[in-house]
Amino acid sequence: MPHETHAELVRTERRINWSMTIFLSLFHVGALASLFFWSWPAVISGVLLYWVAGSLGIGMGYHRLLTHRGYKVPKAVEYFLAVCGSLALQGGPIEWTTTHRMHHAHTDRQGDPHTPREGRLWSHVGWIMAGPAQKYEQAVLERYVPDLLKDRFYVWLSRYYYVPLILLALVLLALGGWAVMMWSVFLRVSLGLQATWLVNSATHLWGRKRFDTGEDSRNSWWVAFLTFGEGWHNNHHAHPTSARHGLRWYEIDFNWWGIRILQLLGLARAIKRVRFNRAATMWQLVSGDRKTKGFYEGA
Ligand SMILES: [Zn+2]
Ligand SMILES: [Zn+2]
Repeated sequence: MPHETHAELVRTERRINWSMTIFLSLFHVGALASLFFWSWPAVISGVLLYWVAGSLGIGMGYHRLLTHRGYKVPKAVEYFLAVCGSLALQGGPIEWTTTHRMHHAHTDRQGDPHTPREGRLWSHVGWIMAGPAQKYEQAVLERYVPDLLKDRFYVWLSRYYYVPLILLALVLLALGGWAVMMWSVFLRVSLGLQATWLVNSATHLWGRKRFDTGEDSRNSWWVAFLTFGEGWHNNHHAHPTSARHGLRWYEIDFNWWGIRILQLLGLARAIKRVRFNRAATMWQLVSGDRKTKGFYEGA
């Protein structure tokens, strides 16, 4: 791993963001406390919401749809997926998309918000606790997310991204009691944060590289398992707009299956995906609306 450039990449303005650090710590303490409130409804609700926020929200919504525009859905569906994303408590769609488009524009180089070349802990959580933590100048937003800034719903949701989760927590508390609320909010959010952070840390450190992308992105089956398919990260960096990240049959990609289900329901279209072109013996990006003759599923 090329660490020669480490010194020059280290940010100088690192300062602990205390409100963020205390907030994240409280959530993790809440996650540990929730283990003392065990019940089946709590487990089921926690797992269900882990999927809603992690797969529908972050993987299919914030990431593959809003950041990379790998497919199209009606506006109502797009907004629904974005609200699911807000439940992950990873910031609003505007900030999340800015951070992630920056990461793709400067992967593992100066300007990457969370590269492990600046330290493993930095890439996992340090950039949130001691870095800019997704607070950007307007000029930066205008450069990276002009599309989302034009949408008043996204501007609203980005300002009040924590509101859907607070409402959900109150409903769960009223209907399910403390155990259901603790598992669905504190434990589920904390595990979801750790899983997403692993995409920034672990999949730029450990795993296989199918594509020579010139940076450190890797394919990691266990991160993919925790994130519904986001761990096939080297595939993703090689073809960022592909809505499908797991390219072989054994590269399980639940987020891709979710997008396929939206397509079967007639809700997703113009799906971009990478396929192996046998004639040219190379992986190529094709649009879902195009005839796919000549291409076959990787096997
Ligand atoms: Zn990456
Ligand atoms: Zn991406």
